[in-house]
Amino acid sequence: MATTSSSLLQSLLFSLIIHISLSTRLPILTDPTTISTFSTDFGHLVTSSPAADPPHPLPSDQSPPSSSPPFHSAYRIPRVRVTVVVNRIRVFDDYVDVGGEQLWIDVLLETVKHGLSPCSWTDYLYLTVGGTLSNAGISGQAFRHGPQISNVRELDVVTGTGDILTCSKKNNSDLFYAVLGGLGQFGIITRARITLRPAPKRARWVRLIYVDFENFIKDQEKLISILEEDDFGFDYVEGSLMMDQSLSSNWRSSFFSMEDVNKISELGAKFGAIYCLEGSVYYDDGLGTAATTWIDQGLEFLYQDLNFVPGFAFTNDVSYTSFLNRVYHGELKLRSMNLWDVPHPWLNLFVAKSKIFEFNQGVFKEILKYNNSTGPILIYPMNKNKWDERMSAVIPDEEIFYSIGLLRSATIDNWKSLENQNEEILRFCEQGGINFKQYLPHYGHVDDWKKHFGSKWDMFVSMKRKYDPKALLSRGQLIFTSPLAQLSQE
Ligand SMILES: Cc1cc2nc3c(=O)[nH]c(=O)nc-3n(C[C@H](O)[C@H](O)[C@H](O)COP(=O)(O)OP(=O)(O)OC[C@H]3O[C@@H](n4cnc5c(N)ncnc54)[C@H](O)[C@@H]3O)c2cc1C
Repeated sequence: MATTSSSLLQSLLFSLIIHISLSTRLPILTDPTTISTFSTDFGHLVTSSPAADPPHPLPSDQSPPSSSPPFHSAYRIPRVRVTVVVNRIRVFDDYVDVGGEQLWIDVLLETVKHGLSPCSWTDYLYLTVGGTLSNAGISGQAFRHGPQISNVRELDVVTGTGDILTCSKKNNSDLFYAVLGGLGQFGIITRARITLRPAPKRARWVRLIYVDFENFIKDQEKLISILEEDDFGFDYVEGSLMMDQSLSSNWRSSFFSMEDVNKISELGAKFGAIYCLEGSVYYDDGLGTAATTWIDQGLEFLYQDLNFVPGFAFTNDVSYTSFLNRVYHGELKLRSMNLWDVPHPWLNLFVAKSKIFEFNQGVFKEILKYNNSTGPILIYPMNKNKWDERMSAVIPDEEIFYSIGLLRSATIDNWKSLENQNEEILRFCEQGGINFKQYLPHYGHVDDWKKHFGSKWDMFVSMKRKYDPKALLSRGQLIFTSPLAQLSQE
């Protein structure tokens, strides 16, 4: 049976590849070097040879070249086994049509040329549109605009049954909702239509330091309640836990000067863990000094209502595109130190607001007390009403929930202990009754997936039965590892 399914999978993938290859006149590469290049992911914890590998998508001519193959399964999830090589980004008045294989950096660079931009992003832009839409696509803009999946108008999808369908809220809506956050289970996204808004020119980028968790989250929640763009507030809100090591060797540390780092480190040494609220205000510089005065005054006013440590507000002023592409600068820095292509035992959770103090106490103060790893630990809140319940993505059932990202880098010697720590955190959450969901989830057994999807599970299975009954797609997730008819007999 396994052999039959695997040959079906191969034939579906090959016919898709050949279709794309013929239509784009691009060669299919099957040499060992190419295959090996595409056999691992960012997590560096698993390898898996592709069924066949056409060359990976190249950034458009106008953008800086991507320095690594864009396979970014964050952890242990083997990537999609087909890479579609097409270069399509077409900008219209208030939306962009973009190939699922395109990188977000290229979407940004192309849309800003037209004075437009998507409004919801990921922190890192060298990820594909299809890949992030299969999860949710989150960053500090999500509190106001929702995740990236909330900003999609239409999709073209090649389903597991081999159909090429266009879907939206009105047309084949079941497929549309299933695919968004659907972990690649129902089809391959070949085109997404994404809403655009006028692109700002600049970002005033702010980091505020807290020694007290309560003040930190109170302020974050205050800031994410400013939903109207006309009211002065941050357009982007994130935050992180700072421990000694997170100030150096960290892809997000290029913000601070050495002098700032020393000042913050002293505070850190005194208090142990400290917290950093990160925000930014977008603006246009067309009005010259009037714009900067408006920002300066607005921030002064906003600060009066916030409780960070006096003297610990740090600002930078950068272009909008530099701000959105900020992680890339960190990537270059880490690459130069050979610290990018290392194991990444990441854990991403959504934790309900009602349990965030217990989480802080149990995880940040206890389990991570002796954390000596590098890499950011993100903490920021989002509003549930910006998510669409009908989509496959799952979140805790509370109006405000926190995205917690333990984005730690490991060495060959300590990755196992970090994995054990992740397990300990999950156990703590399970046993302590913490209301949480994994983001970028990875589970080994269907029962865990059932629990993960909760009330969405039945719909998820019925969509799988409809659009990929032979379970040809994204088997690496270990949700459906055999054809659906067989599953129902188990
Ligand atoms: C350095 C880094 C930073 C990240 N930062 C963020 C972040 O800020 N916010 C966030 O939300 N996520 C973030 N992620 C997670 C990221 O969204 C997921 O790992 C995503 O799956 C990456 O997609 P990819 O196509 O680039 O990777 P790939 O490895 O090519 O694909 C991963 C999986 O996505 C699915 N998939 C990919 N393409 C398609 C398609 N066209 N149609 C259907 N399914 C598809 C498949 O299931 C595939 O196995 C980050 C990941 C990395 C490695």
